[in-house]
Amino acid sequence: MPQDQQRVAIVTGAARGIGAATASRLAEDGMAVAVLDLDEANCAGTVESITKAGGRALAIGADVSQADQVQAAVGKVAADLGPPAVLVNNAGVLRDNLLFKMTEDDWDTVLGVHLRGAFLMSRAAQKHMVDQRYGRIINLSSSSALGNRGQVNYSAAKAGMQGFTKTLAIELGQFGVTANAIAPGFIATDMTAATAARVGMDFEEFQKAAATQIPVRRVGHPDDVAHAISFLASEGAGFVSGQVIYVAGGPLC
Ligand code: NAP
Repeated sequence: MPQDQQRVAIVTGAARGIGAATASRLAEDGMAVAVLDLDEANCAGTVESITKAGGRALAIGADVSQADQVQAAVGKVAADLGPPAVLVNNAGVLRDNLLFKMTEDDWDTVLGVHLRGAFLMSRAAQKHMVDQRYGRIINLSSSSALGNRGQVNYSAAKAGMQGFTKTLAIELGQFGVTANAIAPGFIATDMTAATAARVGMDFEEFQKAAATQIPVRRVGHPDDVAHAISFLASEGAGFVSGQVIYVAGGPLC
């Protein structure tokens, strides 16, 4: 595809896990992909796998919770790859604790990366989407939005992502921009491995225990989420907006 016709996507938190799988999938779908994470050097693996497969990718280092870094990052993507048409707000952190032990820093960090990060990235990217009269914003929520012990900060952020998404859909629809949220259940990544370590369980045993509670009797993998994101990021999904899709191996609502 000629470069001037190729859609440009930004995936945050794309050095590993769901973000890395999504960046690779969007590249396979024909997009040029900005692989954004806290440390630019950590993006090298994702960028290399995309370019080895014949795709175009750019590593970008930025903290999504910092407005100046976000502005600079989106500007660099527009200058080096082209104006972004797809944004996947995927960067995330956990700071789990029961409410009575949760610090203000645990609260602020989680709300800062997930919610403020999605706000800053979307605000910076929407200008390019509105100019193109085309855009796809996909926000990572979670089954924890429905409530989860030890995650008062994370569940608040992930429920907030759903309201944020619906409002983006209402405000930006007239410009050809859709906004949707994906709410994964248990996905095997470094994030869930860290949770297993925190509760003192072997990760394999943790996954086996989780699978017994999931209707399809397995845990999810990053490609399961990337597949759903690929659909929402596609040209043909232009009439799907303001939705929350649970990718959890069974029904949640
Ligand atoms: P992960 O493996 O921990 O990867 C998260 C990535 O985000 C890391 O590369 C991390 O960089 C990056 N990141 C953290 N803070 C950042 C910041 N301020 N700016 C830019 N990048 C930042 O997580 P994952 O499991 O793939 O999860 C991806 C998304 O899905 C998250 O939003 C998560 O909440 C959501 N989710 C995951 C699950 C699951 O079961 N795994 C379920 C539901 C929802 P560093 O390595 O430098 O920290």
